[in-house]
Order: sequence, then C-alpha cells, then structure tokens
Amino acid sequence: MKFELRSNAKYFNDEELLNDLKQVAKILDKNKVTQTEYQEYGKFSKSTFHNRFGSWNKALILAGLNKALKQNIDEKELFDNLEVVWRTLERQPKYNEMVKPLSKYSTKPYDSRFGGWMNACKAFIEYKDSDVKFIKLLQEKPKRTRYINEKIRLKVLKRDNYRCVKCGRSPATHLNLSLHIDHIKPFSKGGNNHEENLQTLCDKCNLGKGNDESI
Ligand SMILES: [Zn+2]
Repeated sequence: MKFELRSNAKYFNDEELLNDLKQVAKILDKNKVTQTEYQEYGKFSKSTFHNRFGSWNKALILAGLNKALKQNIDEKELFDNLEVVWRTLERQPKYNEMVKPLSKYSTKPYDSRFGGWMNACKAFIEYKDSDVKFIKLLQEKPKRTRYINEKIRLKVLKRDNYRCVKCGRSPATHLNLSLHIDHIKPFSKGGNNHEENLQTLCDKCNLGKGNDESI
C-alpha cells in the first residue's frame, strides 16, 4: 500500500480567499485592509495570502482594494488649497487656473472628489459658510483708490510666476501661504498702482516690509 499524508486542511481557491478579504473590508467599511485587521476579522492566515499571491498588496489589488494605495488627499487639504488660490485671485478660480505654482493641486482630485469643478466650488462655499470673515471677503467691493484691479493683480502675479519675489515661495509648495500685491513705493508715500510699482510678496515678507497694506 501507499503511505500518504492526508491533510485536514481544505484547499481554498483564489476567489474564496479574495472574497474573504473583501468581506473584511466591508465589515470595516474601508477600501484597504491591513494584515493586522485581517487577522482579527478574516478566516484565513495572512501567510496563506502571501504564499498564494506573492504579497499582501498584490492580494489587495486582486481584490480591488488598492484604492487607498494611491495618494488620497483629504478634503480639508483640498479646501485649504482652494482657499489659498481663491484669496490670491480674490475671486473664484477658474478650472484652468488650478495649476502650479499657484495651486498645489490640479482640478483632478477636485473632480474625482466632488464630481466636477463647479461642485467643488459649491462644496467649498458650504464648508466656508460659517466663516464670516471669508464671506465678507467674497462680498467686499473695492472702495479705496489704492485698490489694484483684478487685471493688474493677475498680470503682476503671472509676471512674478505666482511666487514671492523675496523668498521665492509659492502656494503650490507652501500650503496656506498667501500672496499679496505689494506697492514697491508705498501707496501712503505716493506710490501708484502701475505694474512697475507692484510686486508679489508672501504674507511673511509683506509683513516684514511693514510699510504697506496687503493690497
Ligand atoms: Zn516671501
């Protein structure tokens, strides 16, 4: 007779393994499952997945649970970035203006998160609804003659490549950095609003200058 070792372990096919992984993701309501989480809720051992699929991540990908592996920018970060761009332009940014160095993110993450650029702007305004200061800024109309009109503001920002001319920082590389248009010869000392007298400064460098207001 032939001596054969019989194992009690039932063979599970790939699909059964992956389905159990998906099941755990469902229980946790997540699109990624860590090995520790799986060990707590799953039926199989993590080494079974390693042996079968080569690695834990490969198993996740095969189970369609690889979404979290991509960079996932959180909503607050998207809103913070949008706010910086909005404040820099002093109006709602247009779709094609969401580019570096003015904006850290393109419209892509906004599109996929909110289902379109307009929806993203709407969601942002709702998010900011309680921020009275921001609402005031949106409604504010220029009163003083030192106000630099939008066309010139944009021209100066573009000319300076959306960077502070002193320290070189931009909102794209430094979140929450805001850019201001500064009068080189202060307005209070007779400086005019022509673009040759204007420069882009970040809030820090603008504050350091001390002689002029932010616009
Ligand atoms: Zn600066």
